[in-house]
Amino acid sequence: MRALSYARAADADTAITLVAGHPEGTFLAGGTTEVDLARQDVRRPGLLVDINDLPLNRVEDLPGGGVRIGALARMSDVARAPAVVARFPVISQALVLGASAQLRNMASIGGNLCQAVRCGYFRDVASACNKRDPGSGCAAMDGMNRGHAILGVSDKCIATHPSDVAVALVALDAVVHTRGPAGQRAIAIDDFFLLPGDTPQAEHPLEHGELITAIEVPAAPIARRSAYLKLRDRESYEFALASVAAAIRVEDGTVAEVRLALGGVATKPWRARRAEELLLGEAATEASFTEAARQELAQASCRPQNAFKVELAQRAIVRALRAVMNGDAR
Ligand code: SF4
Repeated sequence: MRALSYARAADADTAITLVAGHPEGTFLAGGTTEVDLARQDVRRPGLLVDINDLPLNRVEDLPGGGVRIGALARMSDVARAPAVVARFPVISQALVLGASAQLRNMASIGGNLCQAVRCGYFRDVASACNKRDPGSGCAAMDGMNRGHAILGVSDKCIATHPSDVAVALVALDAVVHTRGPAGQRAIAIDDFFLLPGDTPQAEHPLEHGELITAIEVPAAPIARRSAYLKLRDRESYEFALASVAAAIRVEDGTVAEVRLALGGVATKPWRARRAEELLLGEAATEASFTEAARQELAQASCRPQNAFKVELAQRAIVRALRAVMNGDAR
């Protein structure tokens, strides 16, 4: 039995001070991950600071067409917010496909970005896991790794990033706003997710006691025609084997603008920049989509069980682009 304290904060400064002042303090929002991990002994918080009373749950329009999503907004509320549905359908679709209705009603958008990996070895405290116990090894390397990552991997960790909505937010160049003991800052979302490298235990650049307050999505007219394609072993309550957040604008048969990000195949939400660069100015054809997808996945590093993800992701990219271009996404 381990002692675990609980506090409920009424304002952000109190919450930050409480967490920063306790070496094992952590924020508690929807609790859909954090409580599970504490029960499984994977994480051992000494103090849970409940932040659900903080006024951070609104979805607001930004001047020019962007949207500001409070960190405590529930996944279900964000998914059905009119501004999100109309201007950023890829976000709404990723949220709906991202969890069961019960989880969507509880889980916050800020917590979603910080959720732990779903690697089974990470959650089994009897297994070697560099992310949970740095230096202990990685049982997934030669173990069950069918669902693991093929992009952004290191010899220390190959866990797939689990979030769906983060993939959409990466495609849209969202910005994560935080507040902590050192003040406020804004972090480009691509920088918010760290590659495992030699330190897989570090997943975000957050300082201890630093709280996500909001996610801002800048205006992006291209996003009005965007979509999230998620491929998985079963149609609900399952993580992606490969997913694609896609938006494309075609002028006179040529790709004038394109956004692509991948989920289910990488250690972080993966902006497919190589494919984007190749597609710009090219004819918007099946052949150019296929070649861009092939080159994006050329950098894949596979294990025997997950090599199938290369072709799966390539096909997903082509299918998502075609669907958005033809207006028949989902
Ligand atoms: Fe741990 Fe990462 Fe290896 Fe999974 S893949 S066991 S999370 S180090």
